[in-house]
Amino acid sequence: MRIGDVLIRGAGPAGRSAAQYGARAALRVLVHEMASVGGQLLNIDRLENYPGCGADSGAALAEVMRAQALEAGAEFAAGNALSLAENGAGGFTVGLDDYGGGLESASLIQAGAVLIASGADRKTIGVPGEAELYGRGVSYCAACDGPFFKNKKIFVVGGGDAACDEARFLARVSPNVHLVHRRSVFRAQSAVAARVLSDPAVNVRLDTAVIEIKGAKKVESVVLQDVKSGKTSEESADAVFIFAGIAPRSGLAASSALKTRPDLDASGFIVTDQRMATRAPGIFAAGDVRSSPFRQVVTAAGDGSIAAHSAAKYLEDGTVNER
Ligand code: NAP
Repeated sequence: MRIGDVLIRGAGPAGRSAAQYGARAALRVLVHEMASVGGQLLNIDRLENYPGCGADSGAALAEVMRAQALEAGAEFAAGNALSLAENGAGGFTVGLDDYGGGLESASLIQAGAVLIASGADRKTIGVPGEAELYGRGVSYCAACDGPFFKNKKIFVVGGGDAACDEARFLARVSPNVHLVHRRSVFRAQSAVAARVLSDPAVNVRLDTAVIEIKGAKKVESVVLQDVKSGKTSEESADAVFIFAGIAPRSGLAASSALKTRPDLDASGFIVTDQRMATRAPGIFAAGDVRSSPFRQVVTAAGDGSIAAHSAAKYLEDGTVNER
């Protein structure tokens, strides 16, 4: 059994920022990293809107954040958290599976406070061929898979910030990029949408849906539907990059054995107050997993710092309210 002041579940920008701030506040911080170490940050090829951070890759920033947290004294370990419950002594017990080492040999961790910073997964669009051709032309990560499709015909699906940004990234890999969005207006921030609309390297197709992805061993074509007329057509394709939004990894909060569980919003994101405190005393949430009007790397990092500050206050006197 390992004992810490704060257990942070997730090591994206929210978790890493909280780890640094918590450790600098002299808390014993244990960070439990999940499979996708670094979170959505790793999908960002050029991080153009993180203040003070040029246009480095998300992966580069993730590495700096980890180094800072380690230097401040936070400890990291890999594994999957399966259970979360009160420990009967005013704190919590988190059960880990698939323990990857790093926090000595503990599969149960006790902590005075828990920060859920587990991020979100990319959503699928559920069309025929999507699951079958995943990894064979269907992808959810342009930075990871884009370079495999140099000068190939690439379709990008979605109308949010991610689709618009990643279509522009892919246009540097191939001159044949088609951004397909099912509505006539983008959901993306207006500046992000304006950039892709004025980018001559991206062919934007609005009011269009991909309704099927075809191919025997790899993507060979897509079936498109004009949403207004209902007319369908088939076009050759080498790759389909899908950016249809994110689904929160809030399962642990929802299934925990806590006496009071954190509230989730209608889409499953964890509800917190402005101090990142959930309805469950001692349980905090930060970053993409949190119900929030705006999800950016910078807001995740900000969430993490506030959560660490609140956890320190909670550990001091059992409240998160400043006097
Ligand atoms: P998002 O903002 O939720 O947008 C998802 C897009 O996918 C929407 O345009 C949606 O269409 C479309 N979509 C959803 N289901 C679909 C389906 N079955 N078929 C076709 N299209 C479908 O998601 P996101 O772009 O991944 O962004 C997630 C969060 O990260 C956002 O808060 C975003 O601001 C943030 N982010 C920011 C940046 C940046 O600042 N540079 C970059 C990436 C992400 P509708 O519009 O019709 O609903």
